[in-house]
Amino acid sequence: MVRMTSVTKSYHSGTRPALDDINLEIGAGEFVFLVGPSGSGKSTLLRLLLREERPTSGVVEFAGRDVASIPDRRVPLLRRQVGCVFQDFRLLADRTAAGNVAFAMDVTGRPRHVVRTVVPEVLDLVGLAGKENRYPDELSGGEQQRVAVARALVARPQVLLADEPTGNLDPATGAGIMNLLGAINRVGTTVVMATHNAALVDTMRRRVVELEHGTLVRDQASGGYEPTL
Ligand code: ADP
Ligand code: ADP
Repeated sequence: MVRMTSVTKSYHSGTRPALDDINLEIGAGEFVFLVGPSGSGKSTLLRLLLREERPTSGVVEFAGRDVASIPDRRVPLLRRQVGCVFQDFRLLADRTAAGNVAFAMDVTGRPRHVVRTVVPEVLDLVGLAGKENRYPDELSGGEQQRVAVARALVARPQVLLADEPTGNLDPATGAGIMNLLGAINRVGTTVVMATHNAALVDTMRRRVVELEHGTLVRDQASGGYEPTL
């Protein structure tokens, strides 16, 4: 599903690269935690997959295609297949929960009757039935993140990238979002989650990829947050 071959990303020449010679393969249906201290390159790795950045050298492939060589006009297609959620939710404040999800569908050109049917279904799926008409500031942090997950899922992406999705949430709410991502993975979506949340990583015992100063220092099939676990 995802393959990185000798991927290096330097934002500025002459400085230490944000990613340094990364080799990584992620198969369809996997769940992968991406861990490492702040500044170790986790977001850069996710941004390369979304084509928000291009590698300085090496190859990033998604579903067999070289992501860097996708023509600009086809990048929206890639972003439909690679969904993403962020620590700060990034919802539109002037749209309701349903409006945020519908907006994501409208920009992909889906007919209105499809939008009207699918929006409540997806919000129900993430546990927000009954809250469709609330604005982001009328929702808790966990509920806002559920809207963001619904918005990412509505395009039926093959891969869901999550950058610190529990970073702004209390532990119990974060565990709820973790369970939601786990459920999404169980029905077939590949999930890559960058996180500092040691408790979640230790509980889930999934594949752990660890970065340090832009290098891949650990790739463990069923790991904890710390290498020794
Ligand atoms: P993480 O997500 O693990 O915190 P990042 O990928 O955000 O790590 O950052 C990796 C390195 O790249 C850091 O040294 C950071 O300062 C640098 N960096 C990230 N984004 C940019 C950017 N847009 N321009 C310049 N340097 C950047
Ligand atoms: P907002 O005020 O959040 O922008 P709108 O009423 O303007 O919401 O609707 C924007 C889109 O959201 C429309 O395409 C509409 O079909 C969809 N939508 C709004 N509310 C709902 C709802 N409760 N269930 C399903 N779709 C909805």
